[in-house]
Amino acid sequence: MNIKEILQLDDFSRDDIITLLSCQGEERTLLFTKSAGVKEKYIGKKVWFRGLIEFSNICSKDCLYCGIRKGNKNLKRYNLTDDEILAAAKFAYDNQYGSIALQSGELEGLHVTQRIENLLYRIKELSKGELGITLSVGEQEKEVYKKWYDAGAHRYLLRIEATNEALYHKIHPGNKKHDFKRRLDCLKSLQDLGYQTGTGVMIGLPFQTPEDLAGDLIFMRDFDIDMCGMGPYIEHADTPLIEYADDLLPLAVRFDLTLKMIAILRIMMKDINIVAATALQAIDPIGREKAIKIGANIIMPNITPGKYRDSYRLYDNKPCTDDSAEDCQSCLEARVSLADNEIVYGEWGDSQHYDKRRKNPSNHGVTRSHTK
Ligand code: SF4
Repeated sequence: MNIKEILQLDDFSRDDIITLLSCQGEERTLLFTKSAGVKEKYIGKKVWFRGLIEFSNICSKDCLYCGIRKGNKNLKRYNLTDDEILAAAKFAYDNQYGSIALQSGELEGLHVTQRIENLLYRIKELSKGELGITLSVGEQEKEVYKKWYDAGAHRYLLRIEATNEALYHKIHPGNKKHDFKRRLDCLKSLQDLGYQTGTGVMIGLPFQTPEDLAGDLIFMRDFDIDMCGMGPYIEHADTPLIEYADDLLPLAVRFDLTLKMIAILRIMMKDINIVAATALQAIDPIGREKAIKIGANIIMPNITPGKYRDSYRLYDNKPCTDDSAEDCQSCLEARVSLADNEIVYGEWGDSQHYDKRRKNPSNHGVTRSHTK
């Protein structure tokens, strides 16, 4: 089939996706026109905020691509105080962000469990239950996820980064702490507990093939995710994968592939939430606007206190590390309107896909939610 014929379909095979990922020129425009139309029909020209609080860059893991990996000694570690986290959440609440996302390196243990649980209760209290909360703090035991769900978190982002197990092992150390199966089990636990469950991958990794990328999208569809955050792989000088920097696709190609992945996923999963990743802006100054135009509907303004931002570099050239939370908001307002979309304030902007799953709990074990 040619691209035009493929785009008549509502869902794609692995081969269809590989063909779509290779399209150029007029065919590329056709793909983006179709995905933009799907977004407008199912979501509207709307964007919701998740105020991002990167509350600690301390991590117990050593993912080979990540700038805040445990083994990176060229990094000042930080851990926001509870008061700093609550002040950032209050800023989001006062500015009608609707939702926040609490993100950190991955740590487990009773202290971490209790601290996050306590913070969740306090954020719910300060916002009178009105702030939606996404957590992104990695792999945990199911009972820990449950405690946090009961305390008020209702979305969880756990990026799998690569769904081809062989590729996953190439970008992670080969030990128990970086176990592919545990990551899958964690995603399943989150979904079973009733979280809006999100995952995502990096695009343009060393060793990655178009077949891998097609497999990633098929995984997301078959797992029935509610949210996706995926972005281009951008190398970090202080990581083992920098060794392969010369073999990587040019940044512009990684950027283009990311837009195509977003567009294809939007057509395949019409009502999920898709993030316009900040990493897109590290490559193209209007990268996030481009993603919004062709399918993304979530943006994550960074509301981490400015003095810590520079230390949460997962990749090099991360943008906006000098902006204040206020600067970030007005910049994003202008950017979203440039993309002919509008920011919706004061709403959670939950995944519609999740709501539909919730109405069919027998299919997914979803029995209750904190949906506003
Ligand atoms: S990707 Fe996540 S778990 Fe891995 S080293 Fe970085 S912060 Fe830690």
